[in-house]
Amino acid sequence: MWSDLLCLEASSLARRVREEHGSGSAGALAARLGVPIIEDCWQVAGGRILNLAECSLRPPEIRLNRQAIADLAVRLAARCECLPHGVPTEEDLIELAVAHELYHLLSGCASGLAVELAAHTFAREVTALPFSPEAFASLLSPHDRREEIQ
Ligand SMILES: [Zn+2]
Repeated sequence: MWSDLLCLEASSLARRVREEHGSGSAGALAARLGVPIIEDCWQVAGGRILNLAECSLRPPEIRLNRQAIADLAVRLAARCECLPHGVPTEEDLIELAVAHELYHLLSGCASGLAVELAAHTFAREVTALPFSPEAFASLLSPHDRREEIQ
C-alpha cells in the first residue's frame, strides 16, 4: 500500500536525519537544517480545528501555534487515562509538531492522508517520545482543512 511505503520511507528518513545530525531536540535539528521556528498564535474558523504548526517551503520556515499547543496540552491532561504513556507536556507537543513539519519540508510532500501518517511516523521516530501522534492526529494534522484567519 502507498501509505505503508510512505511510512517506511519516513522511518528511514528519520534514521538518516539522526545519523547525519546527531541527537538533540527537534528544534535543534531544525536549526541545524537552517529552518527557523517562529512562535505564533492563530485561530481557526469555527474554533473547532486548530493547527499546532504549519510550514512553508520557500523560504523554509515552521510556525508554531503556541496557543493551540497550550490548549491541547490542557485538554490532553484532562483525559490522561486514554494515553498509555501518560500525558505529553507542552514541550513534547512542540517537539512532535516541529518534527512533523520537518518531515513535510524534508520530503517535499505537503498534504494528504498518507503523507500525514508518514509525518507522524517520522515525528515519532525523530523525537523518540513514547506518544503515538496518531492518538491526537486530528489535532496535529488538519492541513487540508485549514481556514486561517489573520
Ligand atoms: Zn502534516
